[in-house]
Amino acid sequence: MFSLHGKTALITGGARGIGKTVAEALGHAGADLVLFDLEKDSLEAAAGELRESTGRRVLASVVNVTDHDAVRAAIDAAWEQLGPIQLLFNNAGIVMQKPAVEASPEEWRHVIDVNLNGAFIVAQLFGKKLIDNEASGSIVNTGSMSGTIVNYPQLQASYNVSKAGVVHLTKSLAFEWAEHDIRVNCMSPGYIFTDLTSSVRKDWRNQWAELTPMKRLGRPEELASTVIYLLADSSSFTTGAELTVDGGFTI
Ligand code: NAD
Repeated sequence: MFSLHGKTALITGGARGIGKTVAEALGHAGADLVLFDLEKDSLEAAAGELRESTGRRVLASVVNVTDHDAVRAAIDAAWEQLGPIQLLFNNAGIVMQKPAVEASPEEWRHVIDVNLNGAFIVAQLFGKKLIDNEASGSIVNTGSMSGTIVNYPQLQASYNVSKAGVVHLTKSLAFEWAEHDIRVNCMSPGYIFTDLTSSVRKDWRNQWAELTPMKRLGRPEELASTVIYLLADSSSFTTGAELTVDGGFTI
């Protein structure tokens, strides 16, 4: 039920952090892997490590998820090389911590562009490819508990808004694509220890742990089983859902 044997998964933001860790788990569950990321060196290093640790076929492409033409070309090239790709972990994202009054229009647009427009572009082109080929599939978008609550002490209106958009994008695509047997769900993490969160002030990290009922940050591998559940046939009647993995933060 949780097996991904015979499937291929596309993971965006797969060079490090949550994307890389989830990619490894998908590989262990039997999927071949396609990684998209901006960062060439870490992407190639991740692809090498994942080939070694999972024994699966791993294709890596330097792609900016905001670039419609580049995403389309990379999806086409990956289908050409590996055959149909049924699974998408739509995960690339950035954060900007700044009070709303200080954010420039360019900074605001950049966060929305990567986190929301990028998620839409990848999902749209991935879904279109499946629909054109009359193939079924499963998509998991990475949301955030910040799509539901407003975090503190950091201020990050652009990020919060982008992730709220990802949740509703999930529901909208799930509704439109149900008739094509393409499921779309969202996995929304709480505070997880990655490069994204380790660069902030230590006192904030301590405060996040204190505010989390489980009194710690999560680890990327603690998200992997939720993503496998949502991508695999184990969740075959689940679409448009958001599953939050946050140590109880949003209770
Ligand atoms: P990370 O910074 O460790 O990894 C993000 C990856 O995305 C990097 O490899 C980066 O190069 C890539 N990326 C960024 N912009 C890109 C673009 N335009 N095109 C292609 N690739 C791009 O971050 P992470 O903590 O692993 O976060 C992964 C996802 O999880 C993000 O969507 C983030 O918003 C979300 N998230 C993280 C946390 C957390 O606490 N770490 C909490 C909630 C949600």
